[in-house]
Amino acid sequence: MVNLRDEITRNIGAIREKIASSAAKSGRKPEDIRLMGVSKFQPLEAIYAARDCGLSLFGENKVQEREEKIARWEGSRAECHMIGHLQKNKARKALEIFDCIESVDSLELALVIERVTRERFETAGRADGRYPVMIEVNVSGEETKHGISPEKSFALIDEIAVKCPHVEIKGLMTIGPLTDDEKNIGAAFELLRNLRDDARKRSGLALEHLSMGMSGDYALAITEGSTIVRIGAAIFGARSG
Ligand SMILES: *Cc1c(COP(=O)(O)O)cnc(C)c1O
Repeated sequence: MVNLRDEITRNIGAIREKIASSAAKSGRKPEDIRLMGVSKFQPLEAIYAARDCGLSLFGENKVQEREEKIARWEGSRAECHMIGHLQKNKARKALEIFDCIESVDSLELALVIERVTRERFETAGRADGRYPVMIEVNVSGEETKHGISPEKSFALIDEIAVKCPHVEIKGLMTIGPLTDDEKNIGAAFELLRNLRDDARKRSGLALEHLSMGMSGDYALAITEGSTIVRIGAAIFGARSG
């Protein structure tokens, strides 16, 4: 039987090499691309093994799963982003246990984050604090995907910037199209980058992050400017769930 720890260590080494070569190909620096370990369905031992390889960012897609993991967590706590669809009634809990919500796709959700953040920061005596989020855009138009449509994304960014002073939009996030056609996938990532560049000019926000690329398509995403690649299966192996 292969040792889980060895397998994860080897996988992360291979991914880091591929990140470096993809970055080099497009004239980018590998340190400008952050590797997120998507740890949904993974046991803590697997997550610790990844942490011991120097991974400092994880992603989870369910509030309850993250909560259960935190309750049993040992040792240094890594940063963790919410990457799944977030229901408004779970937003308060999510803000306590995640360092960033990457899946904001409606003004309603942003307004809840605004209200809860304002309360939390006022209680903590730092009224000027802001909570980091990203806007999830559905670039492929696939109906099964969450995210705001590209056409509506500018209006959403503008509205959040005006109505949510305690919410800081760090960038855009997307899930690539479900296809093997590399042209198609590349075009989707390029669209997200163009949206970000346009939104940056219009709004004056820095929008430094493009969270795009998963196990099957992260090399393409890096070519198109990704700053966070979200990798599950290629690190941890196939998921049981
Ligand atoms: C599961 C998931 C990932 C990771 O997918 P893999 O194909 O396992 O790398 C990335 N982003 C989101 C939003 C996910 O839900």
